[in-house]
Amino acid sequence: MSDEANDAHNYQEIPAPMYEHLVQLHSESDDNEEHDDAISAPSTESSLSDDAFEESIQKRIRDFKLFNPSPPPSPVLDLTNYKHKYTRQWSLPESPRQSSSMSRIQFHPPAYVQRYEAVRDVLEKDPRWASNLKSVIDYGCNDMAFFKYLKQIPGVEEIYCIDVDPDTLKARYRNVQPFHVDYLIQRESPLKVQVLLGSVVDPDSIVKDCDAVVAIELIEHLYPEELEKFPANVFGFIKPKVAVITTPNVEFNVVFTDLVGFRHPDHKFEWTRAEFQKWATDIVTKYPDYEVSFHDVCLGPEETRNLGGCTQMAVFHKHSDLQTERVPGQEGLLIPVILYNYPYHNDKRCVKQKIHDDAVFHIHNKGPPEVPLDYIHDKVKDYEISLMELKEFLESYHWTIVRKEDGYVIKVPEYNVFSTENDAEDYKTDEECAVRTENELSPSDPIIENWDSD
Ligand code: SAH
Repeated sequence: MSDEANDAHNYQEIPAPMYEHLVQLHSESDDNEEHDDAISAPSTESSLSDDAFEESIQKRIRDFKLFNPSPPPSPVLDLTNYKHKYTRQWSLPESPRQSSSMSRIQFHPPAYVQRYEAVRDVLEKDPRWASNLKSVIDYGCNDMAFFKYLKQIPGVEEIYCIDVDPDTLKARYRNVQPFHVDYLIQRESPLKVQVLLGSVVDPDSIVKDCDAVVAIELIEHLYPEELEKFPANVFGFIKPKVAVITTPNVEFNVVFTDLVGFRHPDHKFEWTRAEFQKWATDIVTKYPDYEVSFHDVCLGPEETRNLGGCTQMAVFHKHSDLQTERVPGQEGLLIPVILYNYPYHNDKRCVKQKIHDDAVFHIHNKGPPEVPLDYIHDKVKDYEISLMELKEFLESYHWTIVRKEDGYVIKVPEYNVFSTENDAEDYKTDEECAVRTENELSPSDPIIENWDSD
């Protein structure tokens, strides 16, 4: 394996001190202020009227103590300045809290899966940008559940998972690390994954010009001032080719018969379709290089279709390259938590070499004395080569193919394990092949000498 390939197989995990600041944030928010994920009771606690909500807060405090019996280790980095910025609070919506059991309706697949699939499909299938999105940001990534969809999208080589909640990132950042299987069956292209602590309003130079922005069920968690600044960062600074934003459709809430108030206690609002569409349309008015379309996601039973989907999704597309003014960026707004470089195998063989290698492997695997050509054709069908093209191709490398009653068969000589003629190591790349004529890999080519002859 070349040095370059070896490098590609290394993955880098930022050493512990790099994320000690999370511990710092964690301990500070414990001591002094509140965090939205209920590690301690809100300052507005006394005004809570709903017993169930009180009880759920208390339970989360108990759980937190249970899993965090001792104080975190002392911090390495002094990130005092970040404390204020990323410390979040409980806020009380105007309406009463939800009750414990939200609804009897069940979605199959579950609503969150339908959301992820809808966003994945937009990124992967729309011909306007399909296979052309190299870098993607997942804002409000939470436990990074959407990452497993993102990493499979063809063309994606850089993923930025960004969230404002240090506790969740600290607990879950390993959700983006490569599995063992990622080493065994390697990707064909690189993949760099970074988890970053910060806000959707931070115009950090690291995310400038990313190709796609995703914000799944995020905007309804934003405070008014964050919601106001969010478009400037995404459409005025990052300027992605596509941005996909989902949020609950409040019209659908009538289906949740037990629901009182919002779907989640941290929601600052839930919008009707008209409200969401107005917000999004105002954005494209301000950023005319974008257009927007709206989609219902996670539809309910037939009789609820007039309500729209459980989720509503806006797809913003950068349709022109108007030289609109760009919001200035800054360095160091987002704090790196972890970086993983996924292993990948850069197969530089040209297509004909791949067809040849695959075919010969399967010929020897199946034979001798003979192997149906159909069988080999099936094995290399992904290369879109016809049966007769394959026949000619193999014959040009001195395979004997004869017609029998059931079709063509390839004659397979006994394999001589001591022969050195079988080593076809001198692979050619697509570029090298490309400079040749149509029949680039001629039979006389050294890469596949007559190693199949006896
Ligand atoms: N997108 C995830 C989780 C949505 S929950 C999913 O669909 O599964 C909303 C997330 O947004 C939470 O993790 C919360 O911490 C995060 N969040 C809230 N305000 C944010 C902000 N200003 N910037 C980035 N993330 C934020």
